[in-house]
Amino acid sequence: MEFPGNFRKYIFLLVIVIIFGLFIFYRLPARKEIYAETRFFMDTTVTVKVVGEQKMAERAIEQAFKTMQEWAGRLDRFNSGSTVWRINHSGGEGTRVDQELLILLKKGKDYAALSKGAFDPTVAPLVDLWGFGQDEQRVPRVGEIERVLSRIDYEKLSLDFVNHQVFLPAFMEIDLGGMAKGFIIDKGIETLLALGVESAYINAGGNIRVLGNKAPGHPWRIGIRKPREPGKIFQRYILALNRGSLATSGDYERYFTFNGVRYSHLLDPRTGYPAREMQSATIYAENALEADILSTAVFVSGWDEGKRLIESLEGVEGFLVRENEVWMSKGLEKYLY
Ligand code: ADP
Ligand code: MG
Repeated sequence: MEFPGNFRKYIFLLVIVIIFGLFIFYRLPARKEIYAETRFFMDTTVTVKVVGEQKMAERAIEQAFKTMQEWAGRLDRFNSGSTVWRINHSGGEGTRVDQELLILLKKGKDYAALSKGAFDPTVAPLVDLWGFGQDEQRVPRVGEIERVLSRIDYEKLSLDFVNHQVFLPAFMEIDLGGMAKGFIIDKGIETLLALGVESAYINAGGNIRVLGNKAPGHPWRIGIRKPREPGKIFQRYILALNRGSLATSGDYERYFTFNGVRYSHLLDPRTGYPAREMQSATIYAENALEADILSTAVFVSGWDEGKRLIESLEGVEGFLVRENEVWMSKGLEKYLY
């Protein structure tokens, strides 16, 4: 079959254009997009988002989860054989731990002192007495609470940085539930940074840390939940971040009600009862560990003490909610969207 001369010319041109097009396409810098993955661990959903070229982003997300899940295993007191489990079952003997865990426990003790015991990593027996972390919760009797309170005291947790050992009296137990998520997010971010990631977001059950902008000129936007209106956020207080961390402790996710009273999992180790002055405490801080600890510490400290604690700390901001009232620290304004 003979093609007319003109038609042949067009086919030829088309082939040239396709070859040229393919050439340009493959020479173009790889497109940057947001890659995200969510997994369930630490009793909550954990989302990692990385902005970048596909291969690099997917590899980075995988690595971040690997690091975070390893740490989650070590810090879980219900995971028999974990580092924290070994400390809790040491019967008062020293437990060998690595430097990083010592530093984490030191942080816990420091903030316990700073919050005058509102935050206390040795709160485990009280958490168990109320049944949080188990299937059924109940209001304990006064006598039971008194007995358990005598087993809570962060000052009795002693750390030996020379021999890398932790000592905890046999009648005590630690619970890192108020700080583990923040620590683990920081580990995830460190992993991403080491792989050259410049733009990322990690959220573990309301504890968030971001790295860089989401897209050039567009920071990550984060809403704060309304404690009594599920699914709604405070529209006037949306935050825009290209660094730093946010954590919220609230009484609206883990709680039970009995005789019309709400009992949340944020327990005051000084009274033995759930803290009741606030509905939520959101903290901004440079790293996720500090934000996580402080959200719990401020919530338990209560409205006035909580505000004072926020204002006493450099680089720390807060947003507190109680019935019919919100309070925002002055410095949070610059992060408002
Ligand atoms: P969430 O885990 O819901 O994000 P938090 O970060 O505030 O909230 O941590 C709450 C957990 O911290 C509880 O489940 C418990 O394990 C632990 N916890 C409760 N009260 C205290 C406290 N006063 N000090 C330290 N840890 C606490
Ligand atoms: Mg916390």
